[in-house]
Amino acid sequence: MNQSILLVDDDPSSIQVMSRILAGVGAVRFAMSGEVALRLARDVVPDLVLLDAQMPGMSGFQLCEALKADPATADVPVIFVTSHNEPAFEVAGFNAGAADFIAKPVNPSLVLARVRSQLHGKQMADELRRTATVDVMTGIANRRHFERSLEIEWRRARRCSAPLALLMIDVDHFKRYNDRYGHPAGDTALRRVAQAMAASSLRPADLLARFGGEEFVVLLPDTPRAGAEHVAHCILEGVESLAITHEKSSTARHITVSIGVSCYDQLSRCWQTDSPASRQATTAPPSCASIDLLQAADRALYLAKTSGRAQAKFLDIADAAAPHLGRDILVATEKSWSTTWA
Ligand code: GH3
Ligand code: MG
Ligand code: MG
Repeated sequence: MNQSILLVDDDPSSIQVMSRILAGVGAVRFAMSGEVALRLARDVVPDLVLLDAQMPGMSGFQLCEALKADPATADVPVIFVTSHNEPAFEVAGFNAGAADFIAKPVNPSLVLARVRSQLHGKQMADELRRTATVDVMTGIANRRHFERSLEIEWRRARRCSAPLALLMIDVDHFKRYNDRYGHPAGDTALRRVAQAMAASSLRPADLLARFGGEEFVVLLPDTPRAGAEHVAHCILEGVESLAITHEKSSTARHITVSIGVSCYDQLSRCWQTDSPASRQATTAPPSCASIDLLQAADRALYLAKTSGRAQAKFLDIADAAAPHLGRDILVATEKSWSTTWA
């Protein structure tokens, strides 16, 4: 076990003392201001934060509240290290989201006991969260995990002006498959489809999840439109190459999927000149939210379904409000691909 601890204190000697006490307990990083601590915590989420309540600039209370307000860091326990021991202070700390308090000057044994207790609790909570986030039938992430990740990645994309893409995937004519081959065979087919998608050139940061029933989603952080199209292409081919016979499909002789692709890419829109929409709107609306990305993918999926299935359609988040602007990106005909514009 090598859990990580973030020490935050504007006094270098306090950091030195605590670092010495905590050597061997976990990987220790430190920050001398709330602002730096927030950046470090968002870059690599720690397992525990030890926090000096009184610092110039952003106070310990403010930092604690900021950590708790961000879904990426909300589950990280925070211990206040402070010379205050009045009840009102501790109440204010708990209200800000603190898990515990350590009194200054610090007692090494007490520091170790409190830190170990919080790290143990964090590890158990992480394990519970992990098992609560898996779809039992397919073994991939479940919808709850996806929704949480979407919120985290959406905030990150907005903050860093990074692109974020989303694929919504639906198995074609699956009701007919169940009716023809039976529900257990349908379950087996869904598991195989999930495995094929997981093998479709996904990067470690990408998240494949079961959205519900025979619908899946893939969240692609730091991925612009071209990358998302590539993944959609791989998934279409990966599922087709399973060649799971589907006699009742009116699209193909085997199981196929349709894919809706959406993308939030604030920077690229400043440069795109190839669509009427990008000439009208150079950035996504400032008020847009993660739900808009999901709705754009859903609308693109609908376009893919109504255009003949077994294909992917693209819809930019900024275009999703205008129904006539759906664009064909990939049209599957057997094993060949073409790009067309609607
Ligand atoms: P479309 O091409 O328009 O998507 O048609 P469809 O038949 O796939 O869509 P519809 O929404 O009408 O039906 C989805 C079917 O998926 C209904 C249900 O029987 C099946 N399904 C959903 N979840 C499961 C599951 O966990 N196991 C099995 N075997 N079937 C499922
Ligand atoms: Mg469906
Ligand atoms: Mg379907």
